[in-house]
Amino acid sequence: MFETAGIRSTERVCSALSIVSLAVLLGACAHTSPPDPAVPKSWVVENVASKTTEELYREFIKPGVFERSSSKVIDGYTVESGNLVMPDKSVGSLITVRSKDGSLTAFIEGPDKRGLLVVTSNGESRFSPSSPHDYSLPDTLQGKEVLKPPASVLTGVASPYVIDILIGYSRAAVVLAGGDAYANALAKVESVNLALRNSLTSNVSMRLAGVQIVEQNYPMNGETLEKLPQIFSSGMQNYNPDMLFGAFAPTPDDTAAGLAYLPGRTAIGHVSDGWVFRHEVAHNAGGNHCHVPGGSYNYGFKNGKNGTILCGEDTPYYSNPNVRDENGLPRGNSTTADMARVWRENAQRLSSYATCLTKPPTEFRVTSTSYGTIDFAWARFPGAAKYEIWGRDNLLLPPKKYGESTTLNGKAINVPNGIRPYHLKAVCSDGTISPNSNVVSAKPYEVLK
Ligand SMILES: [Zn+2]
Repeated sequence: MFETAGIRSTERVCSALSIVSLAVLLGACAHTSPPDPAVPKSWVVENVASKTTEELYREFIKPGVFERSSSKVIDGYTVESGNLVMPDKSVGSLITVRSKDGSLTAFIEGPDKRGLLVVTSNGESRFSPSSPHDYSLPDTLQGKEVLKPPASVLTGVASPYVIDILIGYSRAAVVLAGGDAYANALAKVESVNLALRNSLTSNVSMRLAGVQIVEQNYPMNGETLEKLPQIFSSGMQNYNPDMLFGAFAPTPDDTAAGLAYLPGRTAIGHVSDGWVFRHEVAHNAGGNHCHVPGGSYNYGFKNGKNGTILCGEDTPYYSNPNVRDENGLPRGNSTTADMARVWRENAQRLSSYATCLTKPPTEFRVTSTSYGTIDFAWARFPGAAKYEIWGRDNLLLPPKKYGESTTLNGKAINVPNGIRPYHLKAVCSDGTISPNSNVVSAKPYEVLK
């Protein structure tokens, strides 16, 4: 509630000023000095499209150094993430999602600045600090969600496992997120992928299957969690995800900042706290808060100096006894706190909720060619864990696999010269292989002799 009220009051202040004078508005809101961590702050960046992403977030990460560990383009957005390393070597994180039109959504996790930075394509900018939450409050429902068979029963594709998630938003949540739900959802997903990489959990990653926006906002309680698949039923149908997350604006009826099945595939959380997402999905994976006597290894960890996600919540790590902090202390304990192991052990379950469709993949097409190589792209196939590009060297021989990919584009390499037919297959988490896509005739670029 505090955050919602705070953001509204800032908007009111700025619009009141604009009535007095546009010059005053720009003057009042154009400062790029570090924000007061207690209140949201608005300003305007001129020529935002000409600015580098670093120029837009620079003031907010000082005195930290950004150590970028991932950079990729997803649906036209450049998604980058990495740790923020402070002068005392303590670790925070930075996630940036930049669209083609120049707008930016950034999750900043520093020692004294933790919040959401949004810059629109018009340069309207806002930093909304996260209000401190008590993450140790009960926020799980146990034994309510139907689980898939244990991994030993499944005969799906081998790791790495890709968990497809649908993130649903209420309209009020989209406003709090700065207007671009898709960018916010990509940042949420990347916050989990960064924590998984930091925790050396390399066999599993998360991927955004899609976003759905509904007009109504819902309170953070068990009833909302239970009816979430109905609230986002069209998204569940269209995107056929493995997991589902609902992002809502705070309401007076909320019982916590987030809520999740433990274990399960469904969770909800306040949109105003970017980090509640990586916490709640860890409950879905099977994790608990700080260890309690008699508990197993599925807990977060505090080592006296630093905490991890689920216990302490102040670093971009899931607990892992094999990872050490800046003081040389472990970020986990093999018998009481090893969330990296929990993620590894639940990766196959979490990535196999989507039911594989029996239709063929569509929109298979050539995007470019080079020497010995053809680049293809295609439409998303609901439930696909990976895609395979097949072709024929000789029409008398069976088709041959020329490449594979977990994204919506990929390369066929070492292809024959001359025009040949190519097609795509989608491979689902349960091992099912789709029918062949449309056939595309293509040839690689040939070097003139
Ligand atoms: Zn929790």
